[in-house]
Amino acid sequence: MVSLYQSQNKIYPRSVSGLFTHWRWGFVFLTQLVFYGLPWLQWGQRQAVLFDLGARRFYIFGLVLYPQDFIYLTGLLVISALSVFLFTAVAGRLWCGYACPQTVYTEIFLWIEHQVEGDRSARMRLDGAPMSLEKIVKKWFKHFLWAMVAGWTGFTFVGYFTPIHELGMEFLQTRMGSWEVFWVIFYGFATYGNAGFMREQVCKYMCPYARFQSAMFDKDTLIVTYDSVRGEPRGARSRKDDPVALNLGACVDCSLCVQVCPTGIDIRKGLQYECIGCGACADICDTVMDKVGYARGLIKYSTQHAIEQRWTRSQTLRHVLRPRVLIYTVILGAICLGLLVSLALRTPLKVDVVRDRGVMARIVAGGQVENVYRLQLMNATESAQNYRITVSGLSGLTVTSENLVSVDATESRWVGVRVQMPYDAAPAGSHPIQFEIAAQGSPARVSEKSVFLVPR
Ligand code: SF4
Ligand code: SF4
Repeated sequence: MVSLYQSQNKIYPRSVSGLFTHWRWGFVFLTQLVFYGLPWLQWGQRQAVLFDLGARRFYIFGLVLYPQDFIYLTGLLVISALSVFLFTAVAGRLWCGYACPQTVYTEIFLWIEHQVEGDRSARMRLDGAPMSLEKIVKKWFKHFLWAMVAGWTGFTFVGYFTPIHELGMEFLQTRMGSWEVFWVIFYGFATYGNAGFMREQVCKYMCPYARFQSAMFDKDTLIVTYDSVRGEPRGARSRKDDPVALNLGACVDCSLCVQVCPTGIDIRKGLQYECIGCGACADICDTVMDKVGYARGLIKYSTQHAIEQRWTRSQTLRHVLRPRVLIYTVILGAICLGLLVSLALRTPLKVDVVRDRGVMARIVAGGQVENVYRLQLMNATESAQNYRITVSGLSGLTVTSENLVSVDATESRWVGVRVQMPYDAAPAGSHPIQFEIAAQGSPARVSEKSVFLVPR
């Protein structure tokens, strides 16, 4: 019988230290400082970063965004996609190896596992040992710590959508809403499962980026590479042996590069899609090279061209800065600049005009034609504002309802607006008009189009 699925072989990555490991931990601290810390920051009277889906308002420090500002989210997504293209063209799976949540949380969970159960060999021994009190205590304690981290991660995630101070009080008083409880458990469970159990399986089988990233690589992309020209033929030897006399390359075949790999692959077999570019194998191999007294860099960030043509580091870097990278950089820079300028020039007032469907057009006292509209005024500033509503586009057109409207800070308000015009000022039919909404005491001004109907 042929199985369509490969059974999972549990991977026990050996702990490692070195330059790339330090970088990875640096990113773990940085990303988690931002993720766990941001919801607790205050901005005036409110949470600095809050995505209030119920009120349809996003608060990002001084910015108050409405659903009408969706274009900025689109801009952010385009910037993220282009950044991935750029970083991948320069240095392969930098995102995967250093900043992807899957890598970051797996690193944290592995660290806890290492602290509780020991390094690779101790963990393998513990898993192979029969059940004992020590095994139960260690396993239980590890899962308890994992659950704490996962729960806190789920709580923080929900804290981006519900004010986190209130959420904390609700949690302490056991009166959290059912949706909040659901999302804390859901996100916490996803973290627990992905970082504690699925780990490299997510990168190998679930992540779409792993599938298409090879389309963004070329022979001048920096990737974690084994220098087979220098390393082969591999073989064990003592420190005193002369590898030339033994016809051996620099690889001592210690297999440590395989033991530290979080996806369990052997980088000496060449570039494989499972490699997340974390550099752990480069770090451990440098340690081995130091021990045996050989030059570092048997496994290193290099390009296929550099390895084949034996380029120096500066030659390699010169080729990395190729036209494709420069084009990505220019486009990315232009979009970032455009987004920043657009945010800086953004009018902190949004207006929606809706014709009142119940009242098409009518003749009122004094021989005036009247149309009724509903205006939604969205104040995107941190202070209450008064807005004056005027209308133009036809002669004699005036707003006859209340035309000075007050809207509280960061609030939106629907107002009914009656517009009148002398009956004979325009022929029967539909006429384009414009509403002008101007903030009092500030230059914010918005113009919105609509139509004015004149009945026969
Ligand atoms: S760590 Fe280096 S020396 Fe050891 S097997 Fe891997 S490539 Fe060879
Ligand atoms: S092969 Fe090296 S760089 Fe790639 S995932 Fe394994 S340890 Fe990380």
